[in-house]
Amino acid sequence: MSAPPGRFARFLAAAPAPAYDDLDAALARPSPEVLPTLLSASALPRLEELAQRAREVTLQRFGRAVRLFAPLYVSNACLSSCTYCGFSKGLDVARRTLSVDEVVAEARTLVGRGFRHLLLVSGEHRVEVSADYLVACVEALRPLVPSISVETQTWSDDTYARLVAAGLEGVVHYQETYDRERYAQTHLAGWKRDYDRRLSSTERAAEAGVRRLGIGALLGLSADWRSDVLAVARHAVWLQREYWRTEVTVSLPRIKPSASGFQPLVAVSDAEYVQALCALRLAAPEAGLVLSTREPAALRDGLVRIAVTSMSAGSSTEPGGYRTPGQAQEQFSVSDERSPAEVAAMLEAAGYEPVWKDAFPLHA
Ligand code: SF4
Repeated sequence: MSAPPGRFARFLAAAPAPAYDDLDAALARPSPEVLPTLLSASALPRLEELAQRAREVTLQRFGRAVRLFAPLYVSNACLSSCTYCGFSKGLDVARRTLSVDEVVAEARTLVGRGFRHLLLVSGEHRVEVSADYLVACVEALRPLVPSISVETQTWSDDTYARLVAAGLEGVVHYQETYDRERYAQTHLAGWKRDYDRRLSSTERAAEAGVRRLGIGALLGLSADWRSDVLAVARHAVWLQREYWRTEVTVSLPRIKPSASGFQPLVAVSDAEYVQALCALRLAAPEAGLVLSTREPAALRDGLVRIAVTSMSAGSSTEPGGYRTPGQAQEQFSVSDERSPAEVAAMLEAAGYEPVWKDAFPLHA
């Protein structure tokens, strides 16, 4: 049985369609209401101005600090079928689930490279990645890693509370696309197929005491990527208003090649991608903006100077990939292959401070 719509789903359904088309006015007074104007194709020729405005807002709100984190893939076992993902159930790929000791060993490697914030990532497999397993991972890592987040399946309220008690700080749940029809076409089976359960998971995690909330949309999954950016911006602003003690971050990954062989419905160009991040920065100025190693180094270097506040570095997207690479299927290919030290050096050369743990202290 599908979950009932959460509070944000009801808010989104009731939100009036924004109508605003004066770009000068939108740039002068950016807000969620003018996001469609900032995102429109007709605003693209004025990308330089958009970027300049976004840069001003980023410096004003976040200064020159960029938080660095690493994903730690604990398992690529998955019982869901998502058409775009290299971990999808039914794909004949090498699978691996790390033991808790192996997770700790991977974490030690990452701590040795400087990281103090790790994001545990897994596919959706209720047996191999059970709530007990995940709680055990968090408990084992807590003495070693001050900031732990998870990007896994959605959990029950009780499990979120257990994870918080074990020391979990953040939860990341990308909606992938906010278009219900497209969501149904690309999430064919499994737990993740339930759009409303997925969408309400972030608010349920916040209710359980999770302090960092990550949301996102996978650009290219829906033909109308601009609508997904609009929806994720509204989601970020809504979460910030409802859960003001939490830090909200947004990520807008573009689809990368994977074992699924999925082809995006639409290719989002580099210029459009920069526009999306600038518009998001202006419409949701308090939201952290996360950039993954999916994007190429040169683009990442440019975006750091415009809108990004948090980025991964030196990432491996296969379980065990930091210590024993080549034993399991990766989720997607990485574009920026520089080491964490090289990324940190790039930030310093650009006049930014690489922050390995808390860039932005949370409210007490
Ligand atoms: S996106 Fe997540 S749930 Fe879907 S197939 Fe990949 S790992 Fe499984």
